[in-house]
Amino acid sequence: LVERLSDRSLLKLQAYINGRFVGTADIAVVNPASGQEIAAVPDFGAAEAVAAVDAAAAAFAAWAAKTCKERSSILRRWFDLVVAAREDLAVILTSEQGKPLAEARGEIDYAAAYIEFYAEEAKRVAGELLPSHREDARILVQRRPIGVVAAITPWNFPAAMVTRKIAPALAAGCTVVVKPAPETPLTALALAELADRAGFPAGIMNVITGDAKAIGSVLTAHPAVRLLGFTGSTAVGKLLMSQAATTVKKVALELGGNTPFIVFDDGDIDAAVDGTIVSKFRNMGQTCVCSNRIYVQEGIHEAYLKKLSARVAALRVGDGLEANIDQGPLINAKALTKVQLHLKDALSKGASIVVGGERHALGGTFFQPTLVRGATSDMLLANEETFGPIAAVFRFKTEEEVIQAANNTTAGLAAYFYAKNVSRIFRVLEALDYGMVGINTGLISTELAPFGGVKESGNSREGSHHGIAEFIELKYACLGIS
Ligand code: ADP
Repeated sequence: LVERLSDRSLLKLQAYINGRFVGTADIAVVNPASGQEIAAVPDFGAAEAVAAVDAAAAAFAAWAAKTCKERSSILRRWFDLVVAAREDLAVILTSEQGKPLAEARGEIDYAAAYIEFYAEEAKRVAGELLPSHREDARILVQRRPIGVVAAITPWNFPAAMVTRKIAPALAAGCTVVVKPAPETPLTALALAELADRAGFPAGIMNVITGDAKAIGSVLTAHPAVRLLGFTGSTAVGKLLMSQAATTVKKVALELGGNTPFIVFDDGDIDAAVDGTIVSKFRNMGQTCVCSNRIYVQEGIHEAYLKKLSARVAALRVGDGLEANIDQGPLINAKALTKVQLHLKDALSKGASIVVGGERHALGGTFFQPTLVRGATSDMLLANEETFGPIAAVFRFKTEEEVIQAANNTTAGLAAYFYAKNVSRIFRVLEALDYGMVGINTGLISTELAPFGGVKESGNSREGSHHGIAEFIELKYACLGIS
């Protein structure tokens, strides 16, 4: 890996605590495309997590007291450095995560966009003077940073999930401790190196690697941490939420989805096929907004399947670092097992394979991009996120039936649908119980919009001016005057 980097000092094998890179390289980071160890990072636990939180707590008051412009300028410098290091960051990201390099570059741009946006937004956190209940008093409302923020992030977006959480926190005046996923710590550490160069004072941003449980226990129990941001599985999110209850921390959760993708008879089939490919096969199907259940109305079902099957069959599988690859490997053996289980279950309940369906000849965790038809609601793939490259197509008759099916889940993150009739568009949009809806598009993520879910998919929003509000508390003062 290091030979491919133009700036080799971006490959960090140490954690970043209180402005210093510390620790020894103990736990391996593996390239999922080759199965080879590419680097190692510290195996830290509770003691180092306490040190990181203490450093963030010690740095908080001075950071919060800086002018918005000072904080904004440092964030802006960080953004510029991330953009300048785009290619190296993309190579590091693909090497530990597996997604094709083109997608990794796109993720770096997306991750950087959060830093840029919140560098600007830092200047717009304004207090209020509200109408008073008394002639001899004034109501002042300040917007104050909440305090130390802990962020636990997943492996599917090693850069974007870090910046999306911490850029608004830093902009608001909070200090942060990040625990990246064990599969993908190198991207987070490279971002920390760039933050260090950008001039963040010591302790403002800390990145700790190691034992998730031990570190998670500290981040949820330490009284100085006032908000825990988490993106990951619903099960771990629930666990962390309950742990955080003991110290009444705010929790901002982005959990799993079970995304419906609906194509109505009046939808544009070609656009729907394009949207299916982007929304289903991005990151090999490993995003929480990837289509999981594709519902196609009976009038266009066969035509849609025919077009989609040609596109799925044309997807090029391989090592993401090579040129012209559309699909890399799955993140690990557990992910591969889940894909195989869902497929086997679907086939045993009457689904059939149109394209793919097998492990890829490349071996390892590579799996063929797969299209199945005849999916039904009793299958595992209808009830859990497959998080892999299986496009499962369900056939439906009526609008009422498909809305009922789409909402029949405890998840509520993203939904997509294709239709042209304006009345239908509003009816379906209003009926879908989801935090985000893509209408005639399969790509909705942007730093400019509030990303987040309802029901068991989460309780917060990231991106846009709403994203920074998570990190702010209102402080009300009643000022008596004579
Ligand atoms: P996945 O199963 O897709 O890896 P997880 O929810 O397990 O998703 O992982 C998301 C993040 O949560 C990772 O950073 C992981 O290390 C972390 N994590 C997992 N279990 C715990 C835990 N008990 N306490 C704190 N963090 C955890």
